Amino acid sequence: MMAASLAHEMNNPMMSILNYLQYYMKHTRNDDKNYGILQDALHETKRCIDFLNNLLTFIYMGVEERYQKTSCGLLFDRVFKLLSYRIKTEGILIKQHIAEGTPDVWMKVNNIQQVFLNLITNALDAVKDKERKEITIDIKPEGENVQITVSDNGFGIAPENLGKIFNPFFTTKPAGKGTGLGLSIVKNIIIAHGGRISSESEHGLGSRFQILLPMEKPKSV
Ligand code: ADP
Repeated sequence: MMAASLAHEMNNPMMSILNYLQYYMKHTRNDDKNYGILQDALHETKRCIDFLNNLLTFIYMGVEERYQKTSCGLLFDRVFKLLSYRIKTEGILIKQHIAEGTPDVWMKVNNIQQVFLNLITNALDAVKDKERKEITIDIKPEGENVQITVSDNGFGIAPENLGKIFNPFFTTKPAGKGTGLGLSIVKNIIIAHGGRISSESEHGLGSRFQILLPMEKPKSV
């Protein structure tokens, strides 16, 4: 509990520092002598925030959180709000389709929010160098489940890596950027909810992650 409250307490000021740094970067020419310093400060601040997020995810997985009936669309709205600065400044087009009549799902809200946050953060990283940057969310009922699909038109996943991406510590990101923990946490959370997750990708053209979440609470709960 102490670690969780520390991580929460630190996350908010870190986000403010990040916003200030991003503001100053925007108003500093890239030939200014301070530009490199700001760039380093921004990079280190992002590292701290990533670390705090991973810590929070681990903590939430261990904490006895109650199941609540919640709308997946609402959780994505929260995630897009958290990532609004990146989405706006990087010019990301977000498309969201929620089928009419999609029911709310019994879930541990903090856990599932972390799942969506990790998937969208990965998608943002993947589309970074594309001219048209697009992330699409599809939510619809599928039998006893709600199906959630997150697709992007980013650099995709090499066929030889597709079988490894859910392994802990597997990352293709440069040292200091990726921990390789995001998707293994995502998979654990989905399995704990009695759900399933799969991924497919056309290398160079984009990736798609598909989640099936049971509408009802797992029987063991
Ligand atoms: P990290 O983001 O720290 O590398 P993850 O477990 O979240 O850790 O992801 C593992 C790897 O899976 C990434 O390094 C990347 O190679 C690949 N990956 C995940 N999501 C995507 C995506 N949307 N597009 C392309 N590659 C992805």
